[in-house]
Amino acid sequence: QADIGMFEAKESGRNRICFFTDARQAAINSRNSMLQALKGALQNDELCLYYQPQISISGELIGAEALLRWLPPDGDLIPPEDFIPLAEETGLILMIGEWVMAQVCQDLTLMARHDLPPDFSVAINISPRQFSDATLASKIRDVIRSNGVCTGSLKLELTESSLFMDLEHAGKVMEELRAMGIGIELDDFGTGYSSLSALKSLPIDALKLDRTLVQGIMDDGRGRAILRAAVAMAKALSLKVIAEGVETREQHLRLVEEGCDLFQGYLFARPMPLDSFVAHLDDGGWPFRTNPEEVERTS
Ligand code: C2E
Ligand code: MG
Ligand code: MG
Ligand code: MG
Repeated sequence: QADIGMFEAKESGRNRICFFTDARQAAINSRNSMLQALKGALQNDELCLYYQPQISISGELIGAEALLRWLPPDGDLIPPEDFIPLAEETGLILMIGEWVMAQVCQDLTLMARHDLPPDFSVAINISPRQFSDATLASKIRDVIRSNGVCTGSLKLELTESSLFMDLEHAGKVMEELRAMGIGIELDDFGTGYSSLSALKSLPIDALKLDRTLVQGIMDDGRGRAILRAAVAMAKALSLKVIAEGVETREQHLRLVEEGCDLFQGYLFARPMPLDSFVAHLDDGGWPFRTNPEEVERTS
């Protein structure tokens, strides 16, 4: 339909305004129906969390990141990038975020019945809107209490855009969370506007290097130099460094050489539903051995 509209608009100048008005209306309609569908998804239990393992330098499972999925009953799985921006713009992310926290606590309780490593923790993604919600810390405290989960088993991933809206607010909330024993990680590092002074003043525990940085290290010396500088800065501030989006053995080796502490990526495991995650725990398939084929190619 849009193609025909476009064609008509090109054919005749007079149709052009009409086309753009229709397109705009269509966009509003589809946003509204998407929003309605997303509200329905929240009510009808169509959201679900996948878990992706995080690995220590010695190859041990140390945690997992909770990643949201939408599974409509009659369709394919919808990735978060297709609905989180809309949820963020409309504020629905606050309800979704509460669902995520409660679900993570429930899932942690189930995981704990299997063979979990002692310091295992789950990382939850928090969007800027959620972070600016004055009740975030108390919501987390409540959900932890009502599920009987240990605070040390939760950590939060924030992006840089959360921090630079209001540094003072950010600092206060983070102190509150830290006092509860909840770790804070800066996600997607290397993609935003990193203010070094903000990093200095905020109580952050770890930097999570974005996968574009990680993947850039194999390209040329410049990519490697940037990664090296980011790691050096993190170390100088006593922050741990997590590399995300690690896909190959070569990347992993180089990241180890450069001093990264923790790793996450398809090389080790893709994000998976809770039952697969638990099945892996039971199988003793972890601690991780990296793909033997990849090892052969590099050695
Ligand atoms: P993120 O927090 O940076 O999560 C990492 C993304 O990289 C995930 O995409 C993950 O599946 C993907 N990934 C992991 N390893 C690899 C790899 O080796 N190669 C490649 N190419 N990709 C890898 P996903 O699950 O589609 O999530 C996308 C983004 O959606 C997340 O980025 C996060 O910003 C947001 N998100 C996910 N779940 C939630 C949530 O519960 N709440 C909020 N507010 N945002 C969420
Ligand atoms: Mg994340
Ligand atoms: Mg990230
Ligand atoms: Mg991201």
